[in-house]
Amino acid sequence: MPNNRDQSKKLYDLALQYIPGGVNSPVRAFKGVGGNPLFFQAGEGAFLIDSDGNRYVDYVGAWGPLILGHCHEKVIAALSKQLERGLGYGASTEAEVEIAKRICELVPSVEKVRLVTSGTEATMSAIRLARGYTGRDLVVKFEGCYHGHVDGLLVKAGSGALTLGEPDSLGVPKAYTDLTHVLSFNDSAAVQEFFTQHGDDVACVIVEPIAGNMNCVPPEAEFLQTLRQVCTDNGSVLIFDEVMTGFRVALGGAQSVYGVTPDLTTLGKVIGGGLPVGAFGGKREIMDCIAPSGAVYQAGTLSGSPLAVAAGLAMLEAISEPGFYDDLSARTTRLLDGLNERAAAAGVPFTTNQVGGMFGCFFSNEEHISRFDQVMQCNMNHFQTYFHQMLNNGVYLAPSAYEAGFVSSAHGETEIQLTLDAAEKAFSTLSS
Ligand SMILES: *Cc1c(COP(=O)(O)O)cnc(C)c1O
Repeated sequence: MPNNRDQSKKLYDLALQYIPGGVNSPVRAFKGVGGNPLFFQAGEGAFLIDSDGNRYVDYVGAWGPLILGHCHEKVIAALSKQLERGLGYGASTEAEVEIAKRICELVPSVEKVRLVTSGTEATMSAIRLARGYTGRDLVVKFEGCYHGHVDGLLVKAGSGALTLGEPDSLGVPKAYTDLTHVLSFNDSAAVQEFFTQHGDDVACVIVEPIAGNMNCVPPEAEFLQTLRQVCTDNGSVLIFDEVMTGFRVALGGAQSVYGVTPDLTTLGKVIGGGLPVGAFGGKREIMDCIAPSGAVYQAGTLSGSPLAVAAGLAMLEAISEPGFYDDLSARTTRLLDGLNERAAAAGVPFTTNQVGGMFGCFFSNEEHISRFDQVMQCNMNHFQTYFHQMLNNGVYLAPSAYEAGFVSSAHGETEIQLTLDAAEKAFSTLSS
């Protein structure tokens, strides 16, 4: 049982001296669960190994990218091959054309695509593009959705912003956020009403088609269809932020699962196989507004990094194997069924959401969670206790109740059973 965490503690104390809050991204700091963050030295399949040598079944997967688990041999082989040929040229390569073509084939709404270096860059660029294309300024987003740390989108945002209990950030001019209108996720009537009054001013609607930064909340029937309809009717651009869901819930992303076609799609996480990458793409007519073919400026020194592209191509090849997503989905269902059974047996109010290899766990009396306010009403004490119990029993969950969980193809029977055994113990402490 992992319990010696001296090295992590030592590193955290040192980190606090040199890195703000001791971390390079806020959710890592364990503010949502209490205690000290772990430091890691290696990943191995479904496992993470911390700096003290403790092993944990990993359900964070680097926050989504590691759909094949850590150190998948095909990804490592592709990277090793590229390493010998150079780390970057600041010029075009055959591989970046190949990955662009592959993305366009797998996600048919994407007719042209540009690579960037992070999800934030992808959403920031997609919004600039939508504004440039429409000649309008207003952006509609949804409460609890996170689209990276773009100034104008840090309004009622999910992920770290929620964990810290500071939905808005200092340093964002009010003039920026005045151009962002926030509506409730899964509230189709509110969307229709807003568009009836302001439709002519809306440049774009940006949405996580499956919300994954307020835990995991799938769209209700007709919600995404409503967004499609109002955008079409009002000449606004519909942006699906699939940085998390793209290549995670299905090969064609959430848009293929729900059969709704956005105008622009943002991608990240899985397409980089764990390396820094993002992408935005969509309708040819809109994408051609980007420099140098159009007048909307967007650029990047490291864009299309040969290493990230090599990892991404290897990743896309592996997940294109027939049956990959059925199998991933079945593993995830098996995990969640097991968790629900054990929670029920212990008498702990608990429910789960799942789409493909992405899931959410909620300590709640509600049978089904589909709204932001339901997520906020979950039992936070239960989550915190559960998190630490799981950690003590060798399972690493996201250190926040507002993050989705991820299963990889490396999570086999053994890893799932280990998780369920840990959960049984954790639930029993909650019911006593
Ligand atoms: C993670 C995430 C982002 C931000 O991506 P970064 O690479 O962290 O900048 C944007 N949108 C969604 C939906 C995400 O999950």
